[in-house]
Amino acid sequence: MTLLIEADREAGFLDWQRCFREAAPDLKIRWWADPEVDPAEVLYVFCYAPEPGRLSRFPNLRLICSASVGVDNIVTDGTWPTHVPLVRMGCSETAQRMSDYVAWACLSINLNLPRIALAQRTRTWDKVTALRTIPETRVGILGMGNLGAKAAQSLRDFGFSTAGWSRTRKSLPGIESFVGSEELQPFLQRADILVCLLPGTPETVRFLSEDRLARLPVGAGLVNVGRGSHVDVEALTAALDSGHLSGAVLDVFETEPLAADDPLWGHPKVVVTSHLASTASRESRARYAASVIAAFERGDDVPNRFDPVRGY
Ligand code: NDP
Repeated sequence: MTLLIEADREAGFLDWQRCFREAAPDLKIRWWADPEVDPAEVLYVFCYAPEPGRLSRFPNLRLICSASVGVDNIVTDGTWPTHVPLVRMGCSETAQRMSDYVAWACLSINLNLPRIALAQRTRTWDKVTALRTIPETRVGILGMGNLGAKAAQSLRDFGFSTAGWSRTRKSLPGIESFVGSEELQPFLQRADILVCLLPGTPETVRFLSEDRLARLPVGAGLVNVGRGSHVDVEALTAALDSGHLSGAVLDVFETEPLAADDPLWGHPKVVVTSHLASTASRESRARYAASVIAAFERGDDVPNRFDPVRGY
């Protein structure tokens, strides 16, 4: 059974091969551009950004496993074989790293991290007081999927008063569940910190609009770890400048890398990080992909399957 690896191109292949040999000793691991591989022998592909048209050239392909959570690089190819299951990366390390980052970001907003960093840079003794204590802070998580649900549970365990918003109702102990457009208003009204972990779909583009940001309580903070396209940056900047919002921690941007002259870098209420919230190790991702392939081989349902109709 041949697994073809495209992720991280040639430079990463030997390391991926090592990881997959440990996780799935029965698979034959081959490099994506190996001229000796017969396309008919390829049953599985592990990829991040395959060149358009390539995935449709494997006549016996059984499953595509994405090396990342986002699958845009795959599904924007109009020829990808939609009858073949496409599985998004869902290893537990991705969710753990994301929930660690989200906890840090919420604490950074409460502690006014940009002001603390400025004080250190300018050698100023500035006794910043935290905006809120953890139990006083109501966090709202937009998107309660693999990453949102794990982040919500970890924030709850820290003592934050935690709620989530999603399309379908969730029942996680100690976490209030809000659903759909009719429950968005009460959800936003109770979010002292709003964390965005929505997927990138046509419905979520500019989801964090001027109108929605205005519905957050005065002094609220924003953490965006979903997609850069989720935020109307002009509206966000205006809400920060007017004092309606107290701060933002932004990890994702419409154009990455963020341009060196982008005003967000120097905004006094913004922490910028370089799309680093959650990248799991190759070992963990290979183990996850191997477990998905094994489930498929047993005839079990594969987890975390991309649904072309929902768009995530
Ligand atoms: P999932 O697909 O597992 O979860 C998506 C969640 O959003 C689900 O709870 C879903 O609801 C909800 N949702 C989708 N559309 C709507 C809608 N229109 N209205 C209300 N709720 C909606 O995603 P993941 O948790 O795996 O990933 C979340 C985000 O994190 C993605 O944007 C991904 O790109 C990003 N990401 C960022 C990383 C970083 O380093 N910054 C790293 C990895 C991922 P329901 O449960 O009802 O279906």
